[in-house]
Amino acid sequence: MGQGMDFEFSDDQRAVRDAAERICQDFPDSYWLARDEDGVFPHEFHAAMAEGGWLGIAMPVENGGAGLGITEAALMMQTVAASGGAMAAASSIHMNIFAPHPIVVHGTDEQKKRMLEPLIRGEQKACFGVTEPDAGLDTTRITTRAVKDGKTYLVNGRKIWISTAQIADHIMLLCRTTALEGCARPTEGLSLFYTPLDRDHIEVREIPKMGRKAVDSNTLFIDGLTIPEEDLIGGEGQGFSVLLQGLNPERILIAAEALGIGRKCVRQVPCGRSHQFNLYSVAFCGLRSNISLSLSGLCSTQKAPDKILRSRRSRGTNLSGTSTAIPE
Ligand SMILES: Cc1cc2nc3c(=O)[nH]c(=O)nc-3n(C[C@H](O)[C@H](O)[C@H](O)COP(=O)(O)OP(=O)(O)OC[C@H]3O[C@@H](n4cnc5c(N)ncnc54)[C@H](O)[C@@H]3O)c2cc1C
Repeated sequence: MGQGMDFEFSDDQRAVRDAAERICQDFPDSYWLARDEDGVFPHEFHAAMAEGGWLGIAMPVENGGAGLGITEAALMMQTVAASGGAMAAASSIHMNIFAPHPIVVHGTDEQKKRMLEPLIRGEQKACFGVTEPDAGLDTTRITTRAVKDGKTYLVNGRKIWISTAQIADHIMLLCRTTALEGCARPTEGLSLFYTPLDRDHIEVREIPKMGRKAVDSNTLFIDGLTIPEEDLIGGEGQGFSVLLQGLNPERILIAAEALGIGRKCVRQVPCGRSHQFNLYSVAFCGLRSNISLSLSGLCSTQKAPDKILRSRRSRGTNLSGTSTAIPE
């Protein structure tokens, strides 16, 4: 970290954190425990965040958003994760914060109005369809194919690990419009679409998993899906760089959420003397101290997200500024 960095939050940033905290207080541990047991999406929490205007925290003001930056978005997500909701709470709104950002940066005015505004109001929910069974971290290996025919694209393929596809009505979908073999570079020939999740042509199969039960994970079988050309975000074949407008801020948000969960753990683990449970108390104290040490190690040695976010260089930048806002 260079000299002259200011790690203090501004009054506005403190206000964001306090407001998010107030909403989270209406969703106590008992609410999240119930969602963890019944596996039902936390619609009430999503609606409360939408009503407070928080789903549009980093969206343009002219589309009903708050026009704030990655610092504020990360602070909000850290606060949400640090409530009892942890990853279930964060994941239920996470998609709204980072996934639509390619539309913010590359969308036309018509697309921003049509796509962003219902998301911000909480009337629509979106999922993010990138990962495939044979293409995880190496996104360029995806094979879901979109073939243009007149004014529409015909799409066939398969996606995996797609969060919230059970309840989403729209999908941000990455496809190949040119086969990998036909491209000079692997990052070419990809195209990004934001389109209705048409269940007549997308079969959504839930993957049973341990943890974050209230936010579903799915395999998607896409068979003969038609996407109108007006749902293409950015240029055809430009999908990889367009997608990065969402993936880059996502990394910051995930880090902030993880730190929020860590802080909740430290606060939650009981540490005190009790005659009856003395042994447990000692064990818990050890656990709390281990978690604290891990967190402080993370903070001091690995560019803690909140320190990064609180640097002056990142303050107030919009989400697309994240790749340049992180101090070396
Ligand atoms: C709960 C959950 C929710 C998710 N939600 C979504 C979602 O909503 N939308 C979506 O599109 N995706 C989603 N994903 C997918 C997630 O983005 C991928 O899991 C991630 O991109 C990693 O891909 P992978 O699991 O195929 O791992 P892989 O790419 O197979 O990597 C596995 C491991 O191998 C290592 N590795 C990979 N390649 C190399 C190499 N060449 N050399 C050395 N090491 C290598 C990696 O570092 C990693 O440790 C979700 C995943 C989970 C678990």
